[in-house]
Parts: sequence; C-alpha cells; structure tokens
Amino acid sequence: MCAVGGPPDMGDTESFFPTEYKCKDCDHKFKGTGVDPRCPTCQSQNVKRGK
Ligand SMILES: [Zn+2]
Repeated sequence: MCAVGGPPDMGDTESFFPTEYKCKDCDHKFKGTGVDPRCPTCQSQNVKRGK
C-alpha cells in the first residue's frame, strides 16, 4: 500500500500568500506577497488591499 504523503510543513504560509492590492495613485492592481507592498508601475506605497 502506498502511504499518503501530505505536503511538507511550510510553517508560516500567511506571509507567503499573495494578496491583491490596488494602487491609490495610478489605480494599478497587482499582487504582493510581502509586508511592504509597492506598486510596480509607479513605485508608490500608497496602496490598499483589495479584491
Ligand atoms: Zn501605482
């Protein structure tokens, strides 16, 4: 019989989970994964989490 191997324990996965952000300056939507999200278009940090 085959043993069921689950995914390896990733530990803290929350910081790795991509979150969608929206730039308030240029309305560009992007996905960030860090704690310091920054708009890739205008480099602004004036962003908010959005879906
Ligand atoms: Zn922007």
